Amino acid sequence: MEKKQFQAESKRLLEMMISSIYSQKEIFLRELISNASDAIDKIYYKALTDPKLVFNKEDYYIKVIADKENRTLTIRDTGIGMTEDELENNLGTIAKSGSLAFKKEHKSQDGHELIGQFGVGFYSAFMVADKVTVISRALGSDHAFKWESTGTDGYTITPCEKTEVGTDIILKIKENTEEENYDAFLETYRLQEIIKKYSDFIRYPIKMDVTVKKLKEGSENELVDVQEEQTINSMVPIWRKNKNELTPKDYEQFYKEKHYGFDKPIKYVHLNVEGTVTYQAILFIPETIPFNYYTKEYEKGLELYSNGVLIMNKCADLLPDHFSFVKGMVDSDSLSLNISREMLQHDRQLKLIAKNIARKIKSQLQSMLKDEREKYEQFYKSFGRQLKYGVYSDFGANKETLQDLLLFYSSKEKKLVTLDEYVSRMPEDQKYIYYATGESIERIEKLPQTEIVADKGYEILYFTDDIDEFAIKMMMSYKDKPFKNVSSGDLGIEAEEQETDQEKQENQELFDYMKNQLSGKVTNVKASKRLKNHPVCLSSEGEITIEMEKILNAQPN
Ligand code: ADP
Ligand code: MG
Repeated sequence: MEKKQFQAESKRLLEMMISSIYSQKEIFLRELISNASDAIDKIYYKALTDPKLVFNKEDYYIKVIADKENRTLTIRDTGIGMTEDELENNLGTIAKSGSLAFKKEHKSQDGHELIGQFGVGFYSAFMVADKVTVISRALGSDHAFKWESTGTDGYTITPCEKTEVGTDIILKIKENTEEENYDAFLETYRLQEIIKKYSDFIRYPIKMDVTVKKLKEGSENELVDVQEEQTINSMVPIWRKNKNELTPKDYEQFYKEKHYGFDKPIKYVHLNVEGTVTYQAILFIPETIPFNYYTKEYEKGLELYSNGVLIMNKCADLLPDHFSFVKGMVDSDSLSLNISREMLQHDRQLKLIAKNIARKIKSQLQSMLKDEREKYEQFYKSFGRQLKYGVYSDFGANKETLQDLLLFYSSKEKKLVTLDEYVSRMPEDQKYIYYATGESIERIEKLPQTEIVADKGYEILYFTDDIDEFAIKMMMSYKDKPFKNVSSGDLGIEAEEQETDQEKQENQELFDYMKNQLSGKVTNVKASKRLKNHPVCLSSEGEITIEMEKILNAQPN
């Protein structure tokens, strides 16, 4: 029988799983159940949208079967199944799965501790099994196939028998070692515990045969062991549960289970909205930046469910760009299951939900800024730039939403402040909101141009991010106070009289000489009253400042 080789990257991940010293091996079950649930989602969705398919809700379930004698654990689902090609492509490579993101992120690190924090998918089975067998029959196919592997030396695919559509994953559980009690993964109570812990909200029943004591027939007190099929999970998706019954841990668990990120959410909100449009949503703000966040590869979006059935993994229309960091899901009864991607874009209900969600995110951020300043600053370090991009790219639409969420470093407070805080501290005679740009706070502090403004007792905002000045140029003003770069021509400070004619004449020769020497580099050289401790400074005239010019020049054409 031909043995096929794993794709190089898969092999590496597999090796990591097999040799894993990670203590939370139990998460393999979460991964396999989540795959089973995904597979049922797919067939269920098909059944609901294709009138030719007739299914009963009872037909959809996951069953976990432990066989101590043979040391096997089977995870059975009645999902969509896999064809021969799909077995090959989906299990032989990890190219499109969440696992890839994991691999990319942690290429250079020791992944052990991180495995449990992120979905590593199907291969996690090898943490607890010497051999993994997948028997699957795809919807619409009369043939079934068996995929089998004992680890990194490859896998085989052969035809086999299976009467029902769906998939069986059969794990040959490892023998106990000194460090690890693998036997536990064959114990009913332990398996029940793991299912409850990680997969309680899975919407399909996860069944197990459980031994229960029952009264022997005809007897009044004699008990006998009877096998009984029980559903282990509560099946109520977390978003349908009462908020009061849920703890922060539950939401964190959900965040992990859904693979929204490697980290913990810094903030979450659970919405249950009824009115013109009815929906439930759970939204998360991640604690750290996804590794590809500020790249083209990053895909924003929320999971979209229609009455409990997943219809889209990443619905981009639900999130404005400036909140693209938000993760989570939306479930609405108001949406049609049959809706296509194109139709969705124009769907009135969806637009209403999106608008609503954007408002909720904003108010979450605002309350975090007000009540949990430190947390907000941590958030801002990761995603503040995205908010500023939002201001820059569409200020007309985003002004109200975003301007009060911005923070800048203040020369006076020596920390991040809001524009509102700045303006509320302005002395009456101060006309402008002053800012200075530069690579770092230390550099800006040394700028000659800041002196006269600082001497006057005015506060200066330090712009260290490329996008800062561009964003501010779009805003023009905040609460009727225009922004002013400290290195611009007219600072609006009274002490700053124009140079006297006499001074000008006395030095004209020198200025002309300097201008000549610097020809092409400067447009003019003149005397200034602005300088105190520095002999010279550069300044610009017009709308584009020196810092902006640098950035524009650095852009590839
Ligand atoms: P992910 O779930 O992130 O896509 P996995 O490694 O968990 O990655 O699974 C890889 C792929 O294998 C899945 O995307 C799916 O196409 C397929 N698969 C795994 N388990 C099943 C199953 N029980 N039924 C059908 N397809 C499955
Ligand atoms: Mg998976």
